[in-house]
Amino acid sequence: MPATRKLEDRDVYIYEGQIYIPNTYTAGAVGTRFLTGLRDGKKILGTRCAACNRVYVPARSTCHACFEPIDEWVEVSGTGTLETYTVVYEDNPCQPAEPPLVYGIIRLDGADNGFLHMLGGVDPEDLRVGMRVQAVFERDRTGSILDIRYFTPFGGC
Ligand SMILES: [Zn+2]
Repeated sequence: MPATRKLEDRDVYIYEGQIYIPNTYTAGAVGTRFLTGLRDGKKILGTRCAACNRVYVPARSTCHACFEPIDEWVEVSGTGTLETYTVVYEDNPCQPAEPPLVYGIIRLDGADNGFLHMLGGVDPEDLRVGMRVQAVFERDRTGSILDIRYFTPFGGC
């Protein structure tokens, strides 16, 4: 039974706790093609909306901007620009690595949206918004988003 606590000035009690909810769901046809691209060829695949020309990475089947179905595949670069980042110091079973862990939003060259992934091979103190980063792939890839080990800075800002 979780502990309860009374709110300060009300006759209201709350439960405090954490809920662990394991789940499994399919990546779908588009997600599967994206993941096998990573696995088989170190290819980062996106999809381009024919109506507005936006390129989404990871690939998606519907345009967020104009809601049109998307079926054109494009390969984008493994290089991009760091748009923002955060450093996580708290351990959490949902995270793919031990803290400190750096998550970033990367605008890959050829894409029109941000791509969420980890940053590595760099002291977090040396990270800067706008710096150039490149994908570092795992040698043994399994069809996971973690086939990209992380993105790391290269070539200056
Ligand atoms: Zn569109």
